[in-house]
Amino acid sequence: MPWRENVAEQHIKQAQALLNVKIDGDFGPQSLAALQRVVAQLDECMAQRDTVDDEAPTARTGSQELAAVNPTGFRLGKSSKNWLIGVHADLIKVVLRAEAITTIPFAVIEGVRTLERQKELFAQGASKTMNSRHLTGHAVDIAPLIDGKVSWHWPHYRELEPVIKRAAADVRVAVDWGGDWTSFKDGPHWELRRSVYP
Ligand SMILES: [Zn+2]
Repeated sequence: MPWRENVAEQHIKQAQALLNVKIDGDFGPQSLAALQRVVAQLDECMAQRDTVDDEAPTARTGSQELAAVNPTGFRLGKSSKNWLIGVHADLIKVVLRAEAITTIPFAVIEGVRTLERQKELFAQGASKTMNSRHLTGHAVDIAPLIDGKVSWHWPHYRELEPVIKRAAADVRVAVDWGGDWTSFKDGPHWELRRSVYP
């Protein structure tokens, strides 16, 4: 997807601004360390939340035992974590929970979108709305990985569907899947439910 490269630097700068590190468009060790601190805080936050969870038995324990749930040892890649910057904390919880329970590897391929990029996608017909949840950090695009590469094959998205839905239920976050839409099916798209997260 060539358009991704065009906006990569812009996104990195945006991320660096959020992370409070030097904004140079180069995601180096300092940026990564700052990101890892954010992710660690989120992990901790999620573990605390899990300790008061009374319905999902696998989510009741702390982060160490959560990791043991991970059936394949899957870990999110660096690019996936970068895409989580600026995304709503509840949606990040869903993604991190999915990381812990997934049976198939996946990647976050888009998170927060700039208005410029939204206009571009809208003009291309790749997005059907200018009111995208990506603009506000209420949506992420998640793709299954087959042999380490993003798959655009619909059945793979169907396989990932129950994983993300289960993850969302575990952390009690209401999400909607673009694959459930009837007019314009959007397999990678997951967003916080508008009725709960306006
Ligand atoms: Zn999307």
